[in-house]
Amino acid sequence: MAPLEEYRSKRDFSKTPEPAESGETAEPFFVVHDHHASSHHYDLRLLMDGTLKSWAVPKGVPEEMKIKHLAVQTEDHPVAYGSFEGRIPEGEYGAGTVAIFDRGGLEVLERDNNKIVFELRGQRLKGTYALIRFKGKEQDQKNWLLMRTK
Ligand code: MN
Repeated sequence: MAPLEEYRSKRDFSKTPEPAESGETAEPFFVVHDHHASSHHYDLRLLMDGTLKSWAVPKGVPEEMKIKHLAVQTEDHPVAYGSFEGRIPEGEYGAGTVAIFDRGGLEVLERDNNKIVFELRGQRLKGTYALIRFKGKEQDQKNWLLMRTK
């Protein structure tokens, strides 16, 4: 699938204020969006491979050790989404308000298909985190666990 194809296929850019284009490449960064959609959740986005890899995290990014939160991988978002805040209109995908909870530097320390270890250098979120993909038969298992690590 071409980059951002899934992202674009879900949205009508004549109606949503979300960015359609990828935007400028940037130094690695992360952003966490606070998304008041039909179900309130946070979205963790990590700039990797020139796109914002994204996970919906219903309980938010844990700030303490030993707490594991479900993170459901969603479609890659354009780099320009890293500065997006606004209201997605009723009837559109993800309808509701989107605000930036935190944003800052990102360093990916370790990465394979089932595990990503990374450091967040935000205003609120600082420290080393791990995303661990649930074991499953499906190659595209979308459920991960998000936790702080040492
Ligand atoms: Mn969302």
